[in-house]
Amino acid sequence: MAGRIPQSFIDDLLTRVDIVEVIDRYVPLKKAGANHKACCPFHGEKTPSFNVSQPKQFYHCFGCGMSGNAISFLMEFDHMHFVDAVEYLADRVGLEVPRDAIATITPSQQGLYDALNECNLYYQQQLRTTPAAIDYLKNRGISGDIAQRYEIGFAPDAWHALEENTDSNDALLVQSGMQIRKDSGKSHDRFRNRIMYPIRDRRGRVIGFGGRVMDNSEPKYLNSPETPLFQKGRELYGLYELRRATRGSPERIIVVEGYMDVIALAEAGIEHAVATLGTATSSEQVAQLFRETDEIVFCFDGDNAGKKAAWRALNSALPSLKAGRDARFLFLPDGEDPDSLVKSIGTEAFMQLLIEEAIEASSFLFQELEQQAQKGADRSGTGYKARLAEIAKPLISNIPTGVYRTLVEDQLFEKVGVNVFGSEKQQSQKTYHQTQKQPSQPNMSPVRKALIAILDSPEVVLEIDPEAYEFSIDIPGATLLLDVISLIESKPDITTSGILERYRETQHSDALLKLVQVGMASTVESGINTPLSVLQHAIEQLNKESLRAQLKKANLNKPSEMSDQQKNELRERLQQLKKP
Ligand SMILES: [Zn+2]
Repeated sequence: MAGRIPQSFIDDLLTRVDIVEVIDRYVPLKKAGANHKACCPFHGEKTPSFNVSQPKQFYHCFGCGMSGNAISFLMEFDHMHFVDAVEYLADRVGLEVPRDAIATITPSQQGLYDALNECNLYYQQQLRTTPAAIDYLKNRGISGDIAQRYEIGFAPDAWHALEENTDSNDALLVQSGMQIRKDSGKSHDRFRNRIMYPIRDRRGRVIGFGGRVMDNSEPKYLNSPETPLFQKGRELYGLYELRRATRGSPERIIVVEGYMDVIALAEAGIEHAVATLGTATSSEQVAQLFRETDEIVFCFDGDNAGKKAAWRALNSALPSLKAGRDARFLFLPDGEDPDSLVKSIGTEAFMQLLIEEAIEASSFLFQELEQQAQKGADRSGTGYKARLAEIAKPLISNIPTGVYRTLVEDQLFEKVGVNVFGSEKQQSQKTYHQTQKQPSQPNMSPVRKALIAILDSPEVVLEIDPEAYEFSIDIPGATLLLDVISLIESKPDITTSGILERYRETQHSDALLKLVQVGMASTVESGINTPLSVLQHAIEQLNKESLRAQLKKANLNKPSEMSDQQKNELRERLQQLKKP
């Protein structure tokens, strides 16, 4: 999504926005030294450890580790989507987000969207003229209103209906998953004689379909294959419709197993359900849902398959859990699905069940783990406790550090009588103090030192002669370092926040974020080492390291590959670098 708004616009936006002003609207800040402080809005605390740095345009909580720039704050605290956060900030500083840039999609993608849209219109038109399909929906209790809202359609019992009735050629129809191409090179419609449910992305564009037969033939359900537009693990059926029905702020979202369940619930007036598309719930889907709401209820069948699906959903939810968020699990009576249940007990009773019977994520977690650990042994034995601790630890480690995680750790402590996480906690506290006292520990790699200095005060890069970077890119991390340096050289007014924004959703984003945090922890110290001197020193170290590696290589190589003169030159430069 980040690519759809030009990077230059986001750079520009972040230089104009003041993060202190943005956060202060949500969390009143107090000036304290170089930073602004408040009690952290992301975890419960009584003494403020949430710091906002105006020069860096960056926030960081020393208690729970949450950090980021103004865009991240709006995404995390106000659950805005990236594009919405950018638009909000742009609005505040009076900038217009380049409109055409938001919708930039490649021509080939546009072709696929158009083809799918046409198929969708055609299927809806077919439904209106097929009494058998209309009767089927009526018998299932689906009203015309809901059919229209979810754009339900009908694929006729024909092999080439789409080619004959839409403008799309067979190449587009195959690429969008609507036709199957045979080895012979001929292609035909994938969906025939089925009720069609369009799958739409967050913005309402059709990206695929689910099709269901009207009789007992097999397969009962058929989904579009994965295509450039449709990745099953990322999309949720009904999310677009939910966002429209709830105007973007549902109190809770119910996750069910099939699209028929979503529609049956909507028919019963429960318009905040979504379904995964024939796959296990992914972490990405859970994260997406938590951007919309603070409460997710997974509503699965009570049978083994349902339990398994719920367990996988729980595993995907762990990385998103924190104080103020709620993930719960409702298991339906045997043989029931949300569709059948809401029809038999009615909307009110169903909602009551959902609110009263759904169990919390941590209860479900321990319920399952205790069963796994038991293995026939009774629950008081040491073997049982050790097993429970062992299998619980990696799972709990997936929960982000914070109040929620501490509560779950405490629950485990109560059950096994040992603080499984004790030693680790001490260790992490120790390293934290170390970094606070010694910003440039001797054993820290020069690349890290350089990056910490640069992320602390990007402008120091402008003081360094570009010729000074003589080190080789073979040194681990050197490419990233040089990449950041050239970014600052090309954008001299970029802030720390702007640099981090450039690396959002790349493999380096976490590493850079951590280095900023180390930098923030060390600015507490009075600076004997200025960022500039740290950077200069780190570059010298890197140059030396590089030269040494070259010399070593020269010694190993055959004499002919490097002349004596070259070797002498290298040695001389090494001598020069050694001088103070
Ligand atoms: Zn915090």
